[in-house]
Amino acid sequence: MQKENINKSSSNPLSFGEGWGEAIRADFPILQREVYGKPLIYLDNAATTQKPRSVVESINHEYYSVNANVHRGVHFLSQQATELHEASREAVRRFINAKSTNEIVFTRGTTESINLLAFSFGEAFLAEGDEVIISTMEHHSNIVPWQLLAARKGVAIKVIPINDKGELLIDEYKTLFSERTKLVSIVHVSNVLGTINPIKEIVQIAHAHEVPVLIDGAQSVPHIPVDVQELDVDFYAFSAHKIYGPTGIGVLYGKEKWLDALPPYQGGGEMIQTVTFEKTTFNELPFKFEAGTPDYIGTTALAKALEYVNAIGLKNIAEYEHELTQYATQQLKQIDKLRIFGEAEHKSSVISFLVGDIHHFDMGTLLDRLGIAVRTGHHCAQPLMQRMGVEGTVRASFAFYNTKEEVDFLAAGIERVAKMF
Ligand code: PLP
Repeated sequence: MQKENINKSSSNPLSFGEGWGEAIRADFPILQREVYGKPLIYLDNAATTQKPRSVVESINHEYYSVNANVHRGVHFLSQQATELHEASREAVRRFINAKSTNEIVFTRGTTESINLLAFSFGEAFLAEGDEVIISTMEHHSNIVPWQLLAARKGVAIKVIPINDKGELLIDEYKTLFSERTKLVSIVHVSNVLGTINPIKEIVQIAHAHEVPVLIDGAQSVPHIPVDVQELDVDFYAFSAHKIYGPTGIGVLYGKEKWLDALPPYQGGGEMIQTVTFEKTTFNELPFKFEAGTPDYIGTTALAKALEYVNAIGLKNIAEYEHELTQYATQQLKQIDKLRIFGEAEHKSSVISFLVGDIHHFDMGTLLDRLGIAVRTGHHCAQPLMQRMGVEGTVRASFAFYNTKEEVDFLAAGIERVAKMF
């Protein structure tokens, strides 16, 4: 049985077998805590993931020993901080297999990445009457930026419908294209339904119309291997905090040819080459899109998180989480009057449900009293809730550190709450 703390052996990945769960859980101190005198069962990983020691220690270490502002500093610390920051960009590049670090823009998260693109792409390429395609299962952060753009520029938004299992209707998608379609922006994995969308096919269809594609990868990058070159996506967005990294850091990947063609999103330091009162020239990629002091402590910690995930292996993670989600689905389905929302053939580790007419908020609050952390509400996907005919759901979302035992607690907890109504 492998019991070694992964941080001490990150170059030597854990064997993926009996006992690996225990060893991994030991790397996440928060998982050992209790709430209301009960062991914490953390099943809100789609909202944010917990952080391994190596990530938290990286933040402490850099503030204690390396802290200095990055880029253009002549002194030792600044150069060291810059090296760490740029090494993190390389770590991200490798993680998603981008061609070049020029294609990796650091942002505050998925939301900012999408807003950046909506603004810059909108400025450069969209005019009144042009169209953007999104889908019914988008998070608000892949709806509202397009609505803001629509209000600013008179752009139309077209929406791909879904079936009752929570899958995109690809034939309907094909019919949405017109000569005015300028961009497709789609979620890779739904944060409510867990559906894994067929991105390669979606991209191929869009490219056949010479339309570029942005993918919201907030819920995919932590759970399934993503290769942006293989998917041939034009843009890809994700957040560090959902992949065991710190809050406040995210990534926008963009093919160099596209990023080159786009104007800056924000102005300030870092993103310029020369400034006079008459004219400013912009910095090269990716700095053109990174105005102001970046969160260089956060980028180093993100690289640590990716190192941790690499040590376990995303294939192992995907396999384990798939098994755990299938087990949870079976257990939950045995509960009287429990309805699951999202039964796509290809599904990630999210289960949204309701039991009878018990309000999702009541279910979540009472599960919390048993030490079980789930999310309730519309999950920032109100149009999807309308499609499903509900106001909200309860959502349990799993990570590789969750166990079958925790799933059993969840199932027993739901039954206990149900009996109270
Ligand atoms: N897109 C999806 C699918 C999400 O699940 C989330 C967060 O839950 C976001 C976007 C927004 O991510 P962030 O708040 O980290 O910017």
